[in-house]
Amino acid sequence: MCLKINTMKNEILVCCECGSSESIQIKVWNYVNSNEYAGECTDDSNDRWCEDCEEHVNFITQQEWETENKK
Ligand SMILES: [Zn+2]
Repeated sequence: MCLKINTMKNEILVCCECGSSESIQIKVWNYVNSNEYAGECTDDSNDRWCEDCEEHVNFITQQEWETENKK
């Protein structure tokens, strides 16, 4: 049970500034006519955006966020 939760937290990405998992966005390539997702633009942090912070941020896993904020 605990293992399963830890795995999930390890897979969820959050904003490194505020820890939000719901407000983070990335730039992606989309096919114009089919509107299908084609892939990520880059791994550059300039393409990672947090709606809550209203700035470009890096993403970390939820587990890393919780570890950092226990200090
Ligand atoms: Zn944020």
